[in-house]
Amino acid sequence: MRRWNGWGDPQISHPLPTGALSLLELSLGSGSLIPDVAFETVLNSVPVSTLPPDDLLSTDAEVRLRHARGQSLPDWIALRTGEIDTFPDAVTFPSCVKEIRDLFNIARQTDAIIIPYGGGTSVVGHINPPVSEKPVITLDTRGMNQMMDLDTHSHLATFQAGVSGPEVEKCLAEHGYTLGHFPQSWEQSTLGGWIATRSSGQQSLLYGRIENLFAGGHIETPVGDMEIRALPASAAGPDLREIILGSEGRFGVITDAVVRVSPIPEREIFGAVFFKDINSGVRAVRALAGENSLASMIRLSDAQETATTLALSGKETWVDLADFGLSLVGHKNIKKCLMIYGLTGSQAEVRGSRSRVKEIVRAFGGLPIDMMIGDLWKKSRFMTPYLRNTLWDHGYAIDTLETALPWSRLLDTRDGLISAIEDSFSAQGSMVLVFTHISHIYKDGAGIYLTYIFPRMDSASKMVHMWHASKTAASQCIMDMGGTISHQHGVGVDHKPFLNSEKGAVGMSVLEAVRKTLDPEGMLNPGKLL
Ligand SMILES: Cc1cc2nc3c(=O)[nH]c(=O)nc-3n(C[C@H](O)[C@H](O)[C@H](O)COP(=O)(O)OP(=O)(O)OC[C@H]3O[C@@H](n4cnc5c(N)ncnc54)[C@H](O)[C@@H]3O)c2cc1C
Repeated sequence: MRRWNGWGDPQISHPLPTGALSLLELSLGSGSLIPDVAFETVLNSVPVSTLPPDDLLSTDAEVRLRHARGQSLPDWIALRTGEIDTFPDAVTFPSCVKEIRDLFNIARQTDAIIIPYGGGTSVVGHINPPVSEKPVITLDTRGMNQMMDLDTHSHLATFQAGVSGPEVEKCLAEHGYTLGHFPQSWEQSTLGGWIATRSSGQQSLLYGRIENLFAGGHIETPVGDMEIRALPASAAGPDLREIILGSEGRFGVITDAVVRVSPIPEREIFGAVFFKDINSGVRAVRALAGENSLASMIRLSDAQETATTLALSGKETWVDLADFGLSLVGHKNIKKCLMIYGLTGSQAEVRGSRSRVKEIVRAFGGLPIDMMIGDLWKKSRFMTPYLRNTLWDHGYAIDTLETALPWSRLLDTRDGLISAIEDSFSAQGSMVLVFTHISHIYKDGAGIYLTYIFPRMDSASKMVHMWHASKTAASQCIMDMGGTISHQHGVGVDHKPFLNSEKGAVGMSVLEAVRKTLDPEGMLNPGKLL
């Protein structure tokens, strides 16, 4: 069971330490504590389905409500205030490819549209039913969640695409393997969703992004099926996998996927380093990225994120410890930046990498802290999303955005994004706390991940207006700096207005031509991506 209007398992909560609440009140004041609308009230607002009954379709109001929205901030606001303007008319849970083909026929007969649905963790409006005259069927893939094959000679595993993160790792662990794809939404998101959104896991530095892991698969499209062979490499023309990666449910339903897996590593540790400022941290990160297979993840928080995340986890005293350590190497009264890194491999490899990482970070004035903070990060890596529930209950809303750019424009873009968000809020007379980290490191650049927290307002429309103004300003900043509108969350509805600037007119017409070829009737997830 999942929370219907928040994140994750209702049995799990992430309480806020008292120090964290004081920090938020000091920085932001108090937010509105208007109570959430009750589940029954929202349930009663679900309209009667316009679809005729069919064995493949559930028109149950609760099922439709639970598939109505994803996890973006506007989705949260809609669910918490009950101001939801669209619901799917039916939800279908296919168990095989034939049922997906049958569903295409039902959609043709009823002039319905189909929204492929993985874990519903989209943060950009991917799975929300559009305002449309046509009935909407949400196709929940989670019943198709089996491992179909494991080729241990080639380290390739075939899964049905509705398999969730924990299910993937459980199946593989029984045979001594891992996929190594750990987005923060891992607990709820699915393999099909990862492929369809070009997802990136926290340890992409070692295992690669989903596009490196996705070797081939089977796709059902309204004009027929497409089998993409899993090959180690091929020069046989453009790679069809690239059409499916990031297709956001518009080009077909991914029914199964072959993925590249790795033997479970003998050892994995997470360590921490404090830097005196973001510039020295970034210089160290670039140096680390320059050495192949050294770290499996690197995440460098700015000073505000360092202070906020340590306060949110009740570990403010660690900042004092870092102060003391940095003062010993001559840095007094400075704002510290925390880097978390992961080392993965054999015992000997991890030992060797650990001393090399320490050597490199020390060359940039970094203070390595042995495992305590790294262990804390590992323990809470999938718990952080639960903080969204707690913050909301205390009167605060939280949202994130992300991009990636070459190193040469990274820090200027980060500064520009912080100003864009802060200026948007101050223009409306509202407070906001903004912080960032650099993560997903490449030789030529990195991702910027920005989080902002603000006091909840007393109406849904005010909050959505505030969100929209700040999102637009930040997206425009990304475009002006030549970044990507999304490094990992995809396009959906929220990033769609900016895709044209990134791809250009010819690029967009190529994508539209692919869509028209694979889905000439416009049946699949219209309004998203293109
Ligand atoms: C708290 C939180 C943390 C997150 N952290 C990360 C992160 O670290 N890295 C990251 O990459 N993303 C992250 N995300 C974003 C989100 O989890 C990803 O976009 C994820 O890949 C979506 O997977 P899903 O299974 O939930 O797909 P859904 O949200 O259900 O769907 C997303 C899109 O994929 C399409 N789709 C889904 N399954 C299929 C299929 N079988 N065939 C065709 N199309 C399909 C849908 O139509 C839709 O357009 C996070 C989200 C949240 C809420």
